[in-house]
Amino acid sequence: MRTYDEAFTAARDGSTFSNSSQWEVWAAKNCNRCIHDKPARQGDDANGCPLILIALMGKRPAEWLTQTEEQAVYADYTCTEFRDEEDGPGPEPRPIPTPPGQGELWPREPFEGHRMLTPLEPATEAVSPC
Ligand code: SF4
Repeated sequence: MRTYDEAFTAARDGSTFSNSSQWEVWAAKNCNRCIHDKPARQGDDANGCPLILIALMGKRPAEWLTQTEEQAVYADYTCTEFRDEEDGPGPEPRPIPTPPGQGELWPREPFEGHRMLTPLEPATEAVSPC
């Protein structure tokens, strides 16, 4: 998980949810059972998920992706940092990125990151001069 400053720098300008109900529904499916916001659920707001704070600041975290038009319309983001608190004791992704003893052609770390998906530009049609 990136720090707040790193995530804020990578975030996109623009709002995320059109109303509080939309946020509540999404949070119930994601943040309310995610290991990264568990401290806030236990009263330690200072150590809650920084991505939520970025959204409250009016930006869209780069970690919140939409892959379909329907996801974008309903703000049904896929958070790439989501880790179910039932999955294990810590926030490390599973499976462990490079298991001990695993040979690798290239180190994985330089290729890790988040892609910011943007809508495609509409195709421009060729116009006949006649
Ligand atoms: S990592 Fe994503 S799903 Fe988890 S609390 Fe933060 S914003 Fe919510």
